[in-house]
Amino acid sequence: MKISLIVPCYNEQEALPIFYEEVTKVLVQMACEYELIFVNDGSKDGTLDILRELSKKDEHLTYLSFSRNFGKEAAMYAGFCNAHGDYVAVMDADMQDPPALLPQMVELLESGEYDSVATRRVSREGEPPIRSWFARMFYKIINKISDADIVDGARDFRLMKRSMVEAIVEMSEYNRFSKGIFGWIGFRTYWLPYENVNRVAGETKWNFWKLFKYAIDGVINFSQAPLSVASWFGMFMTFVSFIAVIFIVVRKLVFGDPVDGWASTVCIITLIGGIQLFCMGIMGQYIAKTYMEVKKRPHYIVSESNREDAKKIQ
Ligand code: UDP
Ligand code: MG
Repeated sequence: MKISLIVPCYNEQEALPIFYEEVTKVLVQMACEYELIFVNDGSKDGTLDILRELSKKDEHLTYLSFSRNFGKEAAMYAGFCNAHGDYVAVMDADMQDPPALLPQMVELLESGEYDSVATRRVSREGEPPIRSWFARMFYKIINKISDADIVDGARDFRLMKRSMVEAIVEMSEYNRFSKGIFGWIGFRTYWLPYENVNRVAGETKWNFWKLFKYAIDGVINFSQAPLSVASWFGMFMTFVSFIAVIFIVVRKLVFGDPVDGWASTVCIITLIGGIQLFCMGIMGQYIAKTYMEVKKRPHYIVSESNREDAKKIQ
């Protein structure tokens, strides 16, 4: 039995040595075969130098260094494409995914009842309340309107069997949203709750605006519901205007007074114009995604690796 751990790293020079030490300690104690796949996602600090040094000392270590920053999703995909283990997991380099959970996760998989053991944070301590509120709203909405089953507080940290990894690699879409992909492919998953852990060193790469855009991407990637917004608005407006027309015609015939009010007309025109642009915007989002998908560009480009047989462009 071999375990592969995929670790996306972007400017993690402070946290990386701590993570490496901790995770190695746990894996050595578990007395199993393992490989560590570090994906350097175009870091601008000393992350790559650290990886080069570590790979000289440790034969368990593979590193793939991207030609630029492609994002965590691409880094995870590169890891999946290059992992050889029977059990595979993605872990953050900042210790927010505690390596101490690994033995328990392997045990649960060994029992044979599950195909993957996923982790979820039961607390969000150390996070701004407004961010937590938006996160909760996001999970509520996406679960209502998509068929990807996404659990609140779910992390990307999950240990999976080979069969599941193959399904993920097979899903080679360009616009990737891993939380959705994991949920979409199905399989039997055990959810392991744990208390939130704060980053050991370095800084988060996500600000509020980036997370917000990520959430919108998630919705667009896994649901067609926003596309029907235009139809619903359209039907509603048609109904309202039908009633309004009858009202005005009757008033004209009975009382003979002309329709007055320039202001109300302008209000209606701008309202309808706004709704139309909003709906076009939604359609635009889907078209943009389709455009990128059709181009079939690679997900990532590796410019350096310590492994000859690594899949460099995928
Ligand atoms: N990461 C990455 N590419 C990016 C941004 C982040 O590979 O463009 C990695 C990062 O190095 C870390 C993980 O993704 O290992 C999670 O990032 P971070 O801890 O900043 O996110 P948070 O935990 O704050 O959501
Ligand atoms: Mg983190």
